[in-house]
Amino acid sequence: MKYRHLSLFCLLLSMLFVHPSYSIEPQNLFVIKKQLINYYETGHYQVDVQKVIDHAKIYLRDRIQSNNLLSHPKKLAIVLDIDETSLSNYPYMKELDFGIDSPLLSSLIFESEDPPIKPTLELFKYALQNHISIFFVTGRFEKMRSLTVNNLNRAGYSGWTELFLKPSSYHENSAIPYKSAVRKLITDEGYDIVLNIGDQKSDLDGGYSDRTYKLPNPYYYIP
Ligand SMILES: [Mg+2]
Repeated sequence: MKYRHLSLFCLLLSMLFVHPSYSIEPQNLFVIKKQLINYYETGHYQVDVQKVIDHAKIYLRDRIQSNNLLSHPKKLAIVLDIDETSLSNYPYMKELDFGIDSPLLSSLIFESEDPPIKPTLELFKYALQNHISIFFVTGRFEKMRSLTVNNLNRAGYSGWTELFLKPSSYHENSAIPYKSAVRKLITDEGYDIVLNIGDQKSDLDGGYSDRTYKLPNPYYYIP
């Protein structure tokens, strides 16, 4: 009888404290989109970008100073990604309600009116003033060369050394082999890539730069 009471007690206890197991429900898409808009439009995104670029600039300044002391200075270079690193697609992304895989986005990009990401533009100008070679390495395809050049010029990026776009024959799932091969090419030409700045991890992995700096981008992912 004593054991029966104990069993009953245990059963009641388990009914009180054991809940049915549910999956963890992901965050609601509407809420996430609101967060994405708030992050940009309250200025937090810009503050975060500025912090990263400030660190990059300090490192670049130090490297320029030490390079100038060498009897045979190196050919210093920086590598910049374009979308969400040098130019912003935010106005288009918001207009499309963050559905970026859309023909409409392509048509908007073809208007070549992406505004600059200002901290990156400031770093670009600082590098240029200090005779650093600047290479743009983008995941945009080669067929977008002329509109990309137009957009870069319109946004204030002029005086760069070279623009590398993805060949139409490139079909790897990841941008890493393409982007790292370009950096190897630049290095083989005798440049020391001091900084590589991008908004995706795939912009930065694969070596051939002394330092990498990752800008925030909660809006899309490129493997
Ligand atoms: Mg990018």
